[in-house]
Amino acid sequence: MTRARSFAARHAVARESNLMTSFSDLGLSAPLLKAVAGAGYAEPTPIQAQAIPPGLAGRDVLGIAQTGTGKTAAFALPILTRLATGPRAMPTAPRVLVLAPTRELASQIAESFRVLGKNLGTRVALAFGGVPKGRQARALAGGIDVLVATPGRLLDLMGDRAVRLDRVEVLVLDEADHMLDLGFIVPIRRIVATIPRERQTMFFSATMPKDISTLADAMLRDPVRVAVAPVATTADRVEQRVIFVDQARKPAVLARLLAREATGRTLVFTRTKHGADRVVKQLAMAGIVSEAIHGNKSQPQRERALAGFRNGQTRVLIATDIAARGIDVANIDHVINFELPNVPESYVHRIGRTARAGNAGAAISLCDGAERAFLRDIERLIRTRVPPMAEPVAQAA
Ligand code: AMP
Repeated sequence: MTRARSFAARHAVARESNLMTSFSDLGLSAPLLKAVAGAGYAEPTPIQAQAIPPGLAGRDVLGIAQTGTGKTAAFALPILTRLATGPRAMPTAPRVLVLAPTRELASQIAESFRVLGKNLGTRVALAFGGVPKGRQARALAGGIDVLVATPGRLLDLMGDRAVRLDRVEVLVLDEADHMLDLGFIVPIRRIVATIPRERQTMFFSATMPKDISTLADAMLRDPVRVAVAPVATTADRVEQRVIFVDQARKPAVLARLLAREATGRTLVFTRTKHGADRVVKQLAMAGIVSEAIHGNKSQPQRERALAGFRNGQTRVLIATDIAARGIDVANIDHVINFELPNVPESYVHRIGRTARAGNAGAAISLCDGAERAFLRDIERLIRTRVPPMAEPVAQAA
């Protein structure tokens, strides 16, 4: 962890100084400025102010930033600028490849490209597992500019000759640390080996441990390094509490928290997929409606659950770490850790779901005696003690 922070500190060039404050200062074309305004972005975020100018200049970019900082537009806007010139995409040969670890993140990136590129006629396609390949292959055959893909499905489509990467001009690797956590290192290397060396590469990761910086060194050429909000600082904006409670009593405490507190839109984390389903059932018995999102759910089920959460139909979403990474839902009021994660950085990612775009948020962790060691690791990482709170008392019926 210390290593991750010191790397970020070492490479944090121009973090505060010389930041340009308006999109029109950044050198974007008129149609893109219109799309940015249409998306409701008033000012560039720090990662955008730092990464867009070198991105437009064709430089490689190494971005140390987590989801929630506006990094998608930081790479999408330079890419859309480039796509407005040059050859039209040939069938099965995209000009831009964005690799992302999960289907949720891939979908959100593709959506950002569609929103920001809507005045430019940019053709965007998605490729991820869990759904049939046919439609993805047909979209590619029609000729698309930007392919957003997860590594496994992309390799699959490459094997089918549904896609080739020899005309890729820009490669983006998003959430590189998460990719490696999921074991994608070999697929990534195989994919990158088929992309021309003459290309622009943008590489984003929330943390930069040794294996990630080795991968970055192998993929990037003389990159401009930009860094925003090292992972632990997100925690500063979130009001955190811990309730010490035995595992067996957690369902009752969770139900009381959700019933009593004005928790608003709440994301509850469990350690396992089964745990998530169990919590949904336990809450239902207490009369609280919730939905679970995790890797065992089908893609339509996940999308439905997310849409319900986004539009306010479902107030409580139960998620595992992997399913939740990259979920982009604004205004999550509370994060509740039904179980504490054994990887302290996951805690920071979890609670960061509430502190989007400068908002404050609140996070409550339910900690069993067996999880105290996890709590200690977390407190060491965030360099603060999480204050305890009493468990809510049962309401009279
Ligand atoms: P990202 O880190 O790319 O996942 O972005 C996080 C959220 O911030 C998304 O909902 C974006 O639509 C939003 N966003 C990105 N750039 C800006 C901006 N300049 N101003 C306001 N919101 C933004």
